[in-house]
Amino acid sequence: MSSEPILRIALPGPLRLLFDYLPPHDHDLIPLPGTRLAVPFGRTKRCGVLIEIVPRSQLPAERLKRATAILDSSPLFTAADLKFLHWASHYYQHPFGDVIFHALPVRLRKPLPAKQVLPTAWRLTPKGRSIDPTTLSRAPRQAAILRSLQTHPAGQLESELFERCGNCKTVLRNLQQKTWIESLRTESPQAKRQQSSSAHELNQDQALAVKQTRRFLGQFKAVLLEGVTGSGKTEVYLHLLEQTLDTHGQVLVLVPEIGLTPQLVRRFERRLGRPVTLLHSNLSQGEREQAWLAANRGSAQILVGTRSAIFTPIPNLQLIILDEEHDISFKQQEGFRYSARDLAIVRAQRQPCPVLLGSATPSLESLHNAQQGRYLHLHLPERVGSAVPPRISLLDIRSSRLDGGLSPALLKQVRATLQRQEQVILFLNRRGYAPVITCHACGWLADCPRCDARMTLHLKSHLLWCHHCGHQHATPERCPSCESPDLRPLGQGTERLEGVLNQHFPDIPVARIDRDTTSRKGSLEKLLKAIAADDFPIILGTQMLAKGHHFPNVTLVGLIDVDQGLFGADYRAPERMAQLITQVAGRAGRADKPGHVLIQTRHPDHPLLTALVQEGYPAFARDALLERRQAQLPPYSYQVLLRAESTKSDDPTAFLEHASAAGQQITPAGALDFWGPVPAPMERRAGKFHAHLLVQSPDRATLQRWLKHWVERLSELPSAKRVRWSLDVDPQEML
Ligand code: ADP
Ligand code: ZN
Ligand code: ZN
Repeated sequence: MSSEPILRIALPGPLRLLFDYLPPHDHDLIPLPGTRLAVPFGRTKRCGVLIEIVPRSQLPAERLKRATAILDSSPLFTAADLKFLHWASHYYQHPFGDVIFHALPVRLRKPLPAKQVLPTAWRLTPKGRSIDPTTLSRAPRQAAILRSLQTHPAGQLESELFERCGNCKTVLRNLQQKTWIESLRTESPQAKRQQSSSAHELNQDQALAVKQTRRFLGQFKAVLLEGVTGSGKTEVYLHLLEQTLDTHGQVLVLVPEIGLTPQLVRRFERRLGRPVTLLHSNLSQGEREQAWLAANRGSAQILVGTRSAIFTPIPNLQLIILDEEHDISFKQQEGFRYSARDLAIVRAQRQPCPVLLGSATPSLESLHNAQQGRYLHLHLPERVGSAVPPRISLLDIRSSRLDGGLSPALLKQVRATLQRQEQVILFLNRRGYAPVITCHACGWLADCPRCDARMTLHLKSHLLWCHHCGHQHATPERCPSCESPDLRPLGQGTERLEGVLNQHFPDIPVARIDRDTTSRKGSLEKLLKAIAADDFPIILGTQMLAKGHHFPNVTLVGLIDVDQGLFGADYRAPERMAQLITQVAGRAGRADKPGHVLIQTRHPDHPLLTALVQEGYPAFARDALLERRQAQLPPYSYQVLLRAESTKSDDPTAFLEHASAAGQQITPAGALDFWGPVPAPMERRAGKFHAHLLVQSPDRATLQRWLKHWVERLSELPSAKRVRWSLDVDPQEML
């Protein structure tokens, strides 16, 4: 008994340790690390991942339980995969077991064997090849299939045959019985390759970017591709993808939000003539599992995913591309708070392979890394073809009479653009009808009962809705405080603006794009298609509009209200605002017609706005980096944010005080700065009080070494029991 090896197994959950088990009875072979096993845990059966095999356990033999089954015939994670996940667990101080389970699709987190449904493909047998389809006039569907397979000697996927000939399963079975066709269970069907649409000939800058990146295939290099909107970054990705596919490699493309980029995926598939495998949370569990396994087995070559895809095991990974690298959605903001961008760099380093970060508005972190020579910095300074950069002007609205948020000057431009049969984008980063509703008699305001925030009015659905905690209730008929019926909405949301536009332009269809109009699956895609087909002269929307869409006929972009972003509490607010403005502005004039961007503001002299408008994003970034350096803020320093929340208002601060004292005790003198504790900018959120403590250091390694010891102490603090606390390494938001 004691000679049996001990399996050390990771289980999901908050515990920062591995669990010891004996191998299952009915297996002579000990599985390899990275294999999943079913194990008893308390009274339940769980799925665990084998991490290592050791000769003996610290536990007494009678307490050791036995794993009940080996779930995978071969490991799902290689040793290198596990090491990468372990690194992430350590860096973000998040339990290893939880990190591993984060890397698995939901179905594989259960103690069940993986279902592998390989795509079926069909090809002609020698006998089938000798049949002349024209002799089958009485069996037209059989003839159609034979004809199709004749043009694809390597075979064709069943799904493709279905596309051509309808669901023809029985016909296929008939043909198989006649031994005219045979099925292939395809791992990597060359059969999949379809006719691809032809590539653009690259311009000089693009060609250089491709060449420079390609040079590093097979080794690590981080490359920052800074290219203005419409400069052909995606075209650069496509060329790189083609070349890696030719060498049978796999490429991981990370995008901010799949739902927002259906155009990108279609463009990839059309151009590369192969299916793109999607890895994101909007898939069904079964789809997700299949995609994950296809990536894991190496049969899926082009993987497009959102942030969590960075954890997918990809045996033949040759290149990582991160599109819109500045986008905040690469950072997970709850639970395991990792940055997929930063992990992409680490992963590429370990692979090794190049990683390409693309953006028109790179993050200050990445620009800093490029300036320091850590990243190769490539530029696409010009728009492709005849497209010229849009003209950007500030519209001073301090003395204008606004009509539903629109100034007369902006309205005039909208009208003129519509008359030229061109499209207009209006950007307002606030959904709903109005952000505030008030009583005109007594001044009552609709506050969220659970947050320090106002309820947003959604007129059509008769709801007051808190966008911070999701709390909803019906819009009152009368003021809850004084019974007056005179309740009025204040300010603008997209729903209200849509109504205003309908009044001004009664015959003009308006497409509204925000979370409310696109919540149903497929609705965004439908809207985008209709916009591309020019069905909507006016497009109105929130930041969802800022992302990579290409609407060639848009020549006017109006930003209704950007002022709120200029004075955010967060030191990153200006960076985000500049990125948003530049991205939205980039939707204007992307084809042969020049574009014009109008920004309504009450602060036309704000230095950020003027730098951005007069000199562009690079100049803004240069100034912003200088400010960060003077203030010793990231990227010139490194931060960890400790958050605490509780239903009692004093508990979070009390815990953070203790945490701060405990942290300072183990700090080498002067190595770290402690800021706080302070209440969070929105102290009460969803019925809980929030506070945080910020720890900062000029040296990442010092901070990391200290952090490990601090975390151990935190869980031992008595006051920790009265709060929920979480750590955020390299925080992106100070909420
Ligand atoms: P970005 O990703 O930088 O916004 P895209 O790659 O989407 O830019 O390119 C913008 C438009 O220009 C697309 O319609 C694309 O097909 C086209 N395009 C890109 N590169 C070229 C090229 N070298 N020659 C002609 N058209 C190009
Ligand atoms: Zn009132
Ligand atoms: Zn709320």
